[in-house]
Amino acid sequence: MPAMRILSRPLLAFSRASSFFSRSLASLAVLEASAPSYNVISAAAKVGGPLTVLLAGSSAATAADAVSKVEGVSKVIIAANHAYDHGLAENFAPLIVENVKAGDFTHVFAPASAFGKNVLPRAAALLDSQQISDITEVTSEDTFVRPIYAGNVILTVKSSDFIKLITVRTSAFPEPTVGSGKASIESAVDPNAPATAAFVSEDLTVSERPDLGSAKKVVSGGRGLKDKENFDKVMYPLADALGAAVGASRAAVDSGFADNSLQVGQTGKVVAPDLYVAVGISGAIQHLAGMKDSKTIVAINKDADAPIFEVADIGLVADLFEAVPELTEKVKN
Ligand SMILES: Cc1cc2nc3c(=O)[nH]c(=O)nc-3n(C[C@H](O)[C@H](O)[C@H](O)COP(=O)(O)OP(=O)(O)OC[C@H]3O[C@@H](n4cnc5c(N)ncnc54)[C@H](O)[C@@H]3O)c2cc1C
Repeated sequence: MPAMRILSRPLLAFSRASSFFSRSLASLAVLEASAPSYNVISAAAKVGGPLTVLLAGSSAATAADAVSKVEGVSKVIIAANHAYDHGLAENFAPLIVENVKAGDFTHVFAPASAFGKNVLPRAAALLDSQQISDITEVTSEDTFVRPIYAGNVILTVKSSDFIKLITVRTSAFPEPTVGSGKASIESAVDPNAPATAAFVSEDLTVSERPDLGSAKKVVSGGRGLKDKENFDKVMYPLADALGAAVGASRAAVDSGFADNSLQVGQTGKVVAPDLYVAVGISGAIQHLAGMKDSKTIVAINKDADAPIFEVADIGLVADLFEAVPELTEKVKN
């Protein structure tokens, strides 16, 4: 038996390689039906060839109407089955695999969000392909750019895999034009694979503020705020005055000033808003990894040597307890 296994791999590789050259490019973008990130479509469109979007779950049909109008989408396929509502990798991965086979897709894209990071590695394993994670650029159909070591090294990866499975850092790609597209909507292949895990419940922080991951403005607080009471008293009025989402450093989260879902950085969310205001944050590399691509960075810190000033476009060396309330009043007026 072991001898057969050794023989079968090169044969498989040969048949895949020979048919690879005759294959035309075709991409599948797997989006979350409850919150589809259109930026993934912009990344996938760079590969060329027709682009199909896969949506699954109870809200797939509603989401499909909107996605079909996005420029660059050729077709939307839907699996309107509530079994996919919570993005469980156990049944979502077989759904992706069956549709990849049915559509003979060369590329599969998903957002590098909790959803994509959950479902795509399992689909990649089932397809015997090495996933390319968190890309920020598409150089060609087989070459992609991705940051590693908290963004301190930028890696260019060339993949020879038969099917390329890729997660996309959505903040690195623009929103596509919506409205002019006329994609067809069809049913996806639904293997109805059994899930070995069951969704039990979720405990979400409900907020009326802009979503941290997609907000155009973010104000983030750090350990300099000293405690939760100060964090709430100083950061939220500034956020309200600017119409911004609130973020936090890991030190602030670990000290209980802010909820875990607000953490920005290597082990938190990666954001790239038009405006990022860092208040009482020193600028550790792990924090910078989550915000340094913001268009305009404003830093308020009492230490003129704080590393945050190295990435800031506008820096204010001041006591935050005086500067921020004054700034909030000025913005309000
Ligand atoms: C594996 C790993 C992953 C990590 N992931 C993350 C991550 O995702 N996100 C993240 O943020 N960190 C992360 N960290 C932690 C990171 O290394 C830093 O410890 C953290 O970012 C520091 O947070 P801070 O800037 O709020 O606190 P500090 O470094 O303590 O800085 C506080 C700042 O506030 C200023 N300050 C104090 N009082 C005032 C005042 N009155 N007015 C104005 N300024 C004032 C000080 O001058 C100082 O610069 C990670 C670390 C590791 C090892």
